[in-house]
Amino acid sequence: MSSFSSSSSSSSDEKLTRVAIIKTEKCKPKKCNQECRRQCPVVRLGKLCIEVTPQSKIAFISETLCIGCGICVKKCPFEAIAIINLPKSLEREQTHRYGPNSFKLHRLPMPRPGQILGLVGTNGIGKSTALKILAGKQKPNLGRFETPPDWAEILVHFRGSELQNYFTKILEDNLKAIIKPQYVDHIPKAVKGKVIEIMNSKNQLNNLEVTMTELDLNHIGDRDVENLSGGELQRWFNFFCIFLSPHTSD
Ligand code: SF4
Ligand code: SF4
Repeated sequence: MSSFSSSSSSSSDEKLTRVAIIKTEKCKPKKCNQECRRQCPVVRLGKLCIEVTPQSKIAFISETLCIGCGICVKKCPFEAIAIINLPKSLEREQTHRYGPNSFKLHRLPMPRPGQILGLVGTNGIGKSTALKILAGKQKPNLGRFETPPDWAEILVHFRGSELQNYFTKILEDNLKAIIKPQYVDHIPKAVKGKVIEIMNSKNQLNNLEVTMTELDLNHIGDRDVENLSGGELQRWFNFFCIFLSPHTSD
């Protein structure tokens, strides 16, 4: 997986492309002097590389016109801009973008049967987006947030890769993905009852007794979910999610 890239550029370096990110929570055109626009060399040449006025909600940067000089990044008093140069070859591998001047996700990690896949990265780099896409909860727009593709086009985009097969299975319901909530302390509000009763209601493979014993969870079986400690909740719910989603058609 990679994120943060861009559209084409008029830079003389044809091997690079770039993404311009405006951090919406930091950009405050009413409180600055729009230093980004005033100092941008492309704007000074008369092109609309940065568009912003004191009345704007946030600034807009044209990634097509931007030459990646980084001056706006240094001049913005609120550190609201990031300009990231990336290899141009990544342009064809856009997976998702929420909107203009937001982060961009390139490629996707490929989950494989019997293997554990880890995603590591700073906040806002696209880990949750990648997971939502892989779980079938979010349709990847291939970077086209204004004209999102349909699934037929998305499958053509991934043609020839393992992801084409993966998404076909997700769409045909031959593969089930479960996302475990990040904050387990919210679980007791949504899931009520004794642990063993909840597990029994989902015991599709009739292997509950063995797995509860193997994972040393029998001692919490008779407890109400709301009475589990934070650690017990984490451990039990990790198991619960795996227990719910063990099958593929393979
Ligand atoms: S990016 Fe920075 S300088 Fe430009 S409008 Fe936003 S806060 Fe002001
Ligand atoms: S990086 Fe340079 S060219 Fe691009 S928007 Fe900022 S100031 Fe303008």
